[in-house]
Amino acid sequence: MTEKIRRFLRERQPETPCLVVDLDAVADSYLQLTGLFPEAQVFYAVKANPASEVIQRLNTLGSGFDVASPGEIDLCLGQGASAARMSYGNTIKKERDIAYAYERGVKLYAFDSESELEKIKRAAPGARVFCRVLVDCGGAEWPLSRKFGCSPEMAADLLRRARDYGLDPYGVAFHVGSQQTDLKQWDAAVGLAARVFTVLREANIDLRMVNVGGGFPARYRSEIPTLKRYAGAVTRAMTKHFGNNLPQVVIEPGRSMVGDAGIIQSEVVLISTKDYGEDKRWVYLDVGKFSGLAETMDEAIKYRIRTPHDGGETGPVVIAGPTCDSADILYEKTEYQLPRALKAGDKVEVLSTGAYTSSYSSVGFNGFAPLRTYCI
Ligand SMILES: *Cc1c(COP(=O)(O)O)cnc(C)c1O
Repeated sequence: MTEKIRRFLRERQPETPCLVVDLDAVADSYLQLTGLFPEAQVFYAVKANPASEVIQRLNTLGSGFDVASPGEIDLCLGQGASAARMSYGNTIKKERDIAYAYERGVKLYAFDSESELEKIKRAAPGARVFCRVLVDCGGAEWPLSRKFGCSPEMAADLLRRARDYGLDPYGVAFHVGSQQTDLKQWDAAVGLAARVFTVLREANIDLRMVNVGGGFPARYRSEIPTLKRYAGAVTRAMTKHFGNNLPQVVIEPGRSMVGDAGIIQSEVVLISTKDYGEDKRWVYLDVGKFSGLAETMDEAIKYRIRTPHDGGETGPVVIAGPTCDSADILYEKTEYQLPRALKAGDKVEVLSTGAYTSSYSSVGFNGFAPLRTYCI
């Protein structure tokens, strides 16, 4: 938690639950990333945190935007971002949404199937296109596998067809899975991309871009390599598979850009046990799966939690949200310990919650308001 966030919480005492995002920390992430990838083009994955202040700050710094819908396009345009610096990276688009993007000047489109390519041909004539290849996402704590991408053979075939359609076959994309902890994944994925380049060169098509996606981490409970080691892994993979004929590298960070810049403050609503004499307490917070902590699904993302009693004796807990749905349990199988002194009314902080929280919050399940974001 940054000093700025600590001061805001102390002085403003906002109603909980709320997300507080330190925009200077977002800017620091952007500058660190561009320092480590000086040649790369950065498209911030808007879905990670679509707060307009976040978009605006990143736009000022020169970031581009990976957008997935007309809503995200309008959001970025509204904050002064240029359509020329947007990538329509969703491979699942309505044809009229492609036309909408094209009218507003978006020039770069992802696809991973024949039908999608045909939609782009009709709705965005002459556009730059890139094909997403399927990778297995092993080692990712929040995998983006199966649903996106096609085989390298299909990618090569479709990119060839893109040229026949009058589109500009620009390159290949992949995403190794979000919160990827295995640095070797980029080597395998860049290898796949390079194979597509080779096949297309034989057809006299020079692809120019590799989009290495996101996957860079935020700090949750487990140890993670430094961002510098991630950058090293990506750079080594590019050099190994492309030699000195390096294409344009695109990165699409979401989680790593905003995750550590935000914290959720929450209040303990209730602490109970299921029988007399049980050691395991149930700790119910005023934030849960439906108000921002959706990535606790299957207990995938394990957030760090701070309490006012840290340092005191702890005991095992199940941690749950406040709604009348038994799916709204955050951690039951994962061992969490919280101080025995913790009591209803205490404020707790869920750390590194700047990414994939506010955008996942429901509109009002059980009458609980969506997660409020303060950008400071
Ligand atoms: C969500 C998404 C990202 C961001 O991934 P992170 O792991 O959060 O960095 C990047 N690219 C695409 C296409 C995405 O859908």
